[in-house]
Amino acid sequence: MTTGKPAGQAIRKNVPLHGFNSFRVPATAACLAQPRTTDELQAVLDQAVHCPGPLRVIGGGTNLLIVDDLPGLLLQPALEGIKWLGRAGEGWLLRVGAGICWHELVCHCVARNRPGLENLALIPGTVGAAPVQNIGAYGSQFSDVCDSVEAVDLNTGKSCSLSAADCRFGYRDSRFRQEPGRWVITSVTLRLPDHFAPRLDYPGLIQALGSRATAADLSPAEVADAVIRVRQSKLPGLGPDEPGSAGSFFKNPVVALTQVEALQARWPKLPCHPLADGSHGKLSAGWMIDALGYKGFRVGDAGVYARHALVLVNHGQATGRELLALAREIQNAVQAEFGVWLEPEPLIWPEPV
Ligand code: FAD
Ligand code: NAP
Repeated sequence: MTTGKPAGQAIRKNVPLHGFNSFRVPATAACLAQPRTTDELQAVLDQAVHCPGPLRVIGGGTNLLIVDDLPGLLLQPALEGIKWLGRAGEGWLLRVGAGICWHELVCHCVARNRPGLENLALIPGTVGAAPVQNIGAYGSQFSDVCDSVEAVDLNTGKSCSLSAADCRFGYRDSRFRQEPGRWVITSVTLRLPDHFAPRLDYPGLIQALGSRATAADLSPAEVADAVIRVRQSKLPGLGPDEPGSAGSFFKNPVVALTQVEALQARWPKLPCHPLADGSHGKLSAGWMIDALGYKGFRVGDAGVYARHALVLVNHGQATGRELLALAREIQNAVQAEFGVWLEPEPLIWPEPV
């Protein structure tokens, strides 16, 4: 029986990418493959020589800005499966295929009353991408629950398992981001805690939970529901009626506390969250962009989301280059006014030279 779908090791040519990126910008991939198993992945890698140019890995395309056609091979791992491996010490281990939708995994866990992922509800994209920028929200991040990451090392062609320490996780960072083109993540192994210790540091989340925030019987599902409500009220969804986006376009800059003092002397309301090292603080990029009047700003179909200044949006027909030009304008304006350079969070493809 045939399913009508191309086999996972098949390489398709000249594939339009409009439906492969949440900005919904037009571009074409010279070659695209969607392996569903490690054997199919190996078969694709064996044929990659027929796709001249770089090999890139894409998940849901929700953290990318594609500004031009992509030569080479675009690989979208479609490995499935959520497997509970059993108890380990005071927690539970589970292995999850790279192609699983991250939010589906969160729902799977909270439905079983397993804590650990609730603050990360509704983050778009795949499980395989979660370690890449060490996804985070509301004070939790992927590294909090990472036991190991299974990946193919394209330098050697071999599969390996990287411990959480090997992954060199940082704030929205990991070795996978630092070594682009080296790794194809095939699955992740999570270690979820036995006991629920709610993380409720963010005022927006506490407000959404109301009196339940301090309830002794608060559940992971309630926290996930509150996270979903807050996110839906502030962020564009991925549906066709919503503007295209990649979530936050800029990282919150981390600067020395001495610089924070100088900045806050001029802008007393500029929010800053001190880091544990005692010498740096995390500034709010969104506040600076908003202070410059960019919220809701628009050049053609490229714009800044009216409900969230950190989010760049495609109102319809914007190209990747137009969105990049708007991002550059904002970076320059923030640099000129605050003396701080905002780093983009999404990957820009093809990589700027
Ligand atoms: P892609 O965008 O396809 O790829 C991102 C990077 O990961 C690329 O470098 C790609 O090469 C690499 N990659 C993807 N899959 C693999 C793999 N299997 N092996 C190796 N490398 C791989 N992010 C947050 O951290 N917190 C948030 O709260 C958040 N909110 C968002 C809200 C919205 C509305 C949107 C659109 C985005 C948001 N994001 C957030 C960004 C995005 O959801 C995450 O970065 C997510 O992990 C990207 O997943 P993806 O599968 O779409 O990855
Ligand atoms: P928010 O709750 O309005 O907070 C604004 C900013 O202040 C956030 O960027 C957050 O930093 C920081 N912050 C707030 N309370 C903090 C605390 N107690 N300790 C340390 N930092 C604190 O933010 P929001 O924009 O609505 O987003 C809510 C969460 O979802 C945030 O964690 C954000 O990172 C995440 N998110 C991420 C994306 C993305 O694409 N990456 C998109 C939407 C939302 P952090 O950003 O470092 O947490």
